[in-house]
Amino acid sequence: MTEGLREELVALDKRHVWHPYTPMDRYLAETDPLVVASAEGAWLTDVDGRRYLDANSAWWVASLGHRHPALVAALRAQLDTLAHCALAGITHEPAARLAAELCAVAPAGLQRVFFSDDGSTALEVAIKLCGQFHAQNGAPRRTRFVALDGAFHGETLGATSLGGVSAFTRVFGPWTFDVLRVPHAGDGTSWERCLDAARALFRAHGDDVAALVVEPMVQGAAGMRMQPPWFLRGLCEAARHAGAFVVADEVFTGLYRTGARWACDLAGVVPDVLCLAKALSGATVPFAATLATERLFDGFRGADDRAFFYGHTYCGNPLGAAVARAALRAYADEDVAGQVARKAPRIAAAFARMAELPGVGNARALGMIGAVDLGAGGYLARRGWRVSEAARARGIYLRPLGDTVYVTPPLNIPDGELTVLLDGVEDSLREALRS
Ligand SMILES: *Cc1c(COP(=O)(O)O)cnc(C)c1O
Repeated sequence: MTEGLREELVALDKRHVWHPYTPMDRYLAETDPLVVASAEGAWLTDVDGRRYLDANSAWWVASLGHRHPALVAALRAQLDTLAHCALAGITHEPAARLAAELCAVAPAGLQRVFFSDDGSTALEVAIKLCGQFHAQNGAPRRTRFVALDGAFHGETLGATSLGGVSAFTRVFGPWTFDVLRVPHAGDGTSWERCLDAARALFRAHGDDVAALVVEPMVQGAAGMRMQPPWFLRGLCEAARHAGAFVVADEVFTGLYRTGARWACDLAGVVPDVLCLAKALSGATVPFAATLATERLFDGFRGADDRAFFYGHTYCGNPLGAAVARAALRAYADEDVAGQVARKAPRIAAAFARMAELPGVGNARALGMIGAVDLGAGGYLARRGWRVSEAARARGIYLRPLGDTVYVTPPLNIPDGELTVLLDGVEDSLREALRS
């Protein structure tokens, strides 16, 4: 029976679903997709009842595991009273309370919350906030943005403009704006030189810059590329010194993924704008928030035409807000920070061991992120996919970033399951390297 269901769903999918980030010819010809029926904790279960450990937390959102009981309960309870209403000049309890609760745990000075739908919109909000602020507060020249080589800030056109991963930006050049680019250390470039380049860039163009936008500590989509904290601190100081805002895109890193509540904390950086999504609503409904300082907020007061005429239909959705409140409570009540502190060294050790295998290198880890590279082929390289296939046969769902094999498991994954995951990834690497 279930075999029939699987075949039916795959046939419908292959007839009609256009998959994100997927070469569809290859998918239609070669891919035997996982058909997921349910999920709980760190596990996905397919329509045939086979279980897979979710090594990437459903694209970095299931930080508290799938269907965390407190989140599910909050969603159910909210559904019984208010599923949605608009947020333009009216309000509701989940949005009002969540905004206050977010500000209470946010980096110092972030006291205003603008809600939207997902990571990309959280970044669009940040771009427009910073741009409009300068336009109407005496610095109309400040129209430019600074971002890092290899940055990923989402897929809407503003966010795409900030992006520095060519696979995601290449074709969209005609419709995106030009960004000042800071190099990211790699082969041949040291972090010292990158910071020098950033300082030189701000010296040359500082008066034209609206904001620096940065993924603090870790560039996720670029392949889990990590920065030393002193580089991040120096970069943000250079931006501030030039009079630019600092926008921290913590859509991936926020809420303990890196071990700290905010990755910015690891570098002692206090941003002017903080973008949150992904783990904020814990793998339930799309939800995002952009936090800003009182200074930014004040720049929109006064005459009516100084207002921020911007919004998304579902912004502040009560279901998302209620779940996010439950998630913030769970992070605190379940000592997620302590859990990460205990498990992170195991991830780091496992990936360091994997990097000893021939053909594997560049081990790196931070909090509940571990990664190695199988080459330097970038996002379109295929080596990682061989590891992914070997992992699937072992009951692990592992999606690579090109040649980068990484894990970002739920932060609260039980110790035993983390062992199964790390051993399974290592075995999968060995097998893929043999073939
Ligand atoms: C995923 C991601 C985004 C985009 O979020 P979406 O919800 O996919 O729009 C933006 N910034 C970073 C750092 C991300 O990892």
